[in-house]
Amino acid sequence: MALTKENLIQLIAIQEADASLDKLKSDMDNIPVFVANLREAIETEKHKASDLKTMLLTLEKKKKEKELELAQKEESAKKHGTELNAVKTNEAFKALQLEIERAKAQGSEIETEILQTMEDLDKTRKEEKAANVEAQAECKKFEAEISAHEGRLADLKTRFDAAKAKRDEAAAPIPAETMRIYNHVRSRGKLDAVVAIEGSNCSACRITLAPQVIVEATKAKALVTCESCQRIIYRPETLAAKAA
Ligand SMILES: [Zn+2]
Repeated sequence: MALTKENLIQLIAIQEADASLDKLKSDMDNIPVFVANLREAIETEKHKASDLKTMLLTLEKKKKEKELELAQKEESAKKHGTELNAVKTNEAFKALQLEIERAKAQGSEIETEILQTMEDLDKTRKEEKAANVEAQAECKKFEAEISAHEGRLADLKTRFDAAKAKRDEAAAPIPAETMRIYNHVRSRGKLDAVVAIEGSNCSACRITLAPQVIVEATKAKALVTCESCQRIIYRPETLAAKAA
């Protein structure tokens, strides 16, 4: 397949341009990962505060329940107190008094629980407030980082598009079949699709090239590939002679 020295020089330039494009692409691909991590961090911050909010609601519910229970005990003691006036026997009187004392003792225990719950509430309210302040500050910081990443992504995209347009323009004079081979080699993970011959070796896979291959590369009139790694190969000396 015919390929001029000039095409070869152009192809090497394309390879350099593609390496830059690959780097830009890789930088661009990293950004959504950073952004996703930051979004996750924001969610974690929000959860911390909302977990405390849930705890607060649970404590408030507990306090209400205990207050209700206390009122019931107080009501029970009061009711028995009234009943004392109506009892006829000493035994019944004593039994009622015992009931009243028990209700009062239970009420006292409940009061202690209520006080403890109020302390817990106080502590949790403070924690929740602090967590909210911290979460807001952290989220603001993360949002700013996301904006910076998004700005950088837009900038990279602009640079990529411009470099890509320039690269495609530079690729236009190169025969389509050569570009097909070049792209094919690159698509196989060999990003250095065009490599120099060093002495009589392919500089990429190090195989010793057949003399005929070196002769062809020296002529630089056709596309020459390494028989082992399929990369496009050239002799730097030949290209230098052209430049000179
Ligand atoms: Zn090779």
